[in-house]
Amino acid sequence: MNNNYLPPTISAELGRHALEAAADRNLYARGTRAPTLFEIDGIPVAALVQQFGSPLFVFSEHDLREKARHLRAAFTSRYENTRFAWSYKTNYLSAICQVFHDEGWMAEVVSDFEYQKARKLGIDGKDIIFNGPFKPRPILEQAIRERALIQIDNWDELGLVEALARDLDEPLEVGIRVWLDAGIRPIWSKFGFAVENGEAARAAQRIQANRKLSLHTLHTHIGTYVLDPNAYRVAVTKLLALREQLHAGQQHWVPCINLGGGFPSNSLLHGMTGPAEQVVPPIDAYAEAITEVLNRLPPEQRPQLRFESGRHLVDEAGYLLTSVVTIKGIRHPMTEPAGLRDYKEQLLVGEAAQTSYVMDAGINLLYTAAWYQMDVLPARTIEAPPAPSRLYGPLCMVIDVLRYSVDLPPLKVGDLLTLHPVGAYNVSQAMQFIDYRPAVVLVGMDGKPELIRAREVLHDVDGPERLPAHLVHP
Ligand SMILES: *Cc1c(COP(=O)(O)O)cnc(C)c1O
Repeated sequence: MNNNYLPPTISAELGRHALEAAADRNLYARGTRAPTLFEIDGIPVAALVQQFGSPLFVFSEHDLREKARHLRAAFTSRYENTRFAWSYKTNYLSAICQVFHDEGWMAEVVSDFEYQKARKLGIDGKDIIFNGPFKPRPILEQAIRERALIQIDNWDELGLVEALARDLDEPLEVGIRVWLDAGIRPIWSKFGFAVENGEAARAAQRIQANRKLSLHTLHTHIGTYVLDPNAYRVAVTKLLALREQLHAGQQHWVPCINLGGGFPSNSLLHGMTGPAEQVVPPIDAYAEAITEVLNRLPPEQRPQLRFESGRHLVDEAGYLLTSVVTIKGIRHPMTEPAGLRDYKEQLLVGEAAQTSYVMDAGINLLYTAAWYQMDVLPARTIEAPPAPSRLYGPLCMVIDVLRYSVDLPPLKVGDLLTLHPVGAYNVSQAMQFIDYRPAVVLVGMDGKPELIRAREVLHDVDGPERLPAHLVHP
């Protein structure tokens, strides 16, 4: 047997990152045709843009409800006493929130604005979970009056809640946010009372000793896009150990365990190799890991299980349609299909040879493009092999890049592309930097597109502005 192991040499001759070089060199591994997307829930992408303009966010009500029902079934089939809250900050468009409320979801909010929005949508205080490290006193007073579930984040907030609860006739149910190490990095040490150093137990015991407060929930939120179901197994095990410790002192079981959000969508971070369906574990793997721990408890000791999911529910239901406005940096006329030789040359030269497209949507609308690698899908079939291309947004900044390198066939000005998935954390973080925010459409269960947010106009941006008298010139 030959024991002399010779490591493979990865050549950098292609001038690209070494790990990608081998794949880049294999012309046929890339596929000769880029995936396309002609329609969303039966409506042609081009028809949507014709009716509502470009760029355009589109959501599928069908996909929202499917995800919600699938998530619920994954848990309730294994552990019946499970409840869900919709994470408003992930996407707080009223129509989106309302779809989840229709499905029986509570509201999970993290600010004054989000709390008011949930109330305006008709959600009772008792169906609102109030999170976040900063809950200003006036909104905290209202939330306590309306019996929302305050999940207390820190000692200062605990002191304030104690003061505000002093004159209540009936005890106020509250939760605490617990910080624990579930093996997920980076560590989010900003939030909650640490379990490892005994702080969480002390906060809980202080609440249990207060006759005006009743400890309802032990809550944690371990991260977002958590790819390891086992992290939840660790989290629930640690929360149950804390619950056990509190029971030893009080002979009272804390009624609810809330594991926050963090379940991934079928999406990829930059540098990951897809397809996402093969990289991201199915939701049943998470449900199994969590409920397996809970179902080991004697039935009378089992808590209510809660979640505050965001990303997993909405990301794939959201699309952004955007148009090519101009083409830059090419070595061959891309209005003609690239010949195989051109194409190969482009691969060999690498990034420097990339064709770049300027789109009418940029990072002003897709904040998460900095982390996530969105699929880019032309709306028509293009009979030419895809080549590495770059997608720029329209902003006057060099960082406005949606994809640094994505394989696309040669596109023309006016071509439509769909970026997907983009439903989580983009509409709520979209900026009015340089340009208006675009219209948002929901394709309903009946397959009809409905405007759920109009494209902005000047007044939406400068309406709150005031011009000092000396600067007003008639
Ligand atoms: C943002 C947030 C969520 C939702 O997280 P996802 O990863 O989108 O599921 C849930 N709970 C809290 C406390 C949050 O801050």
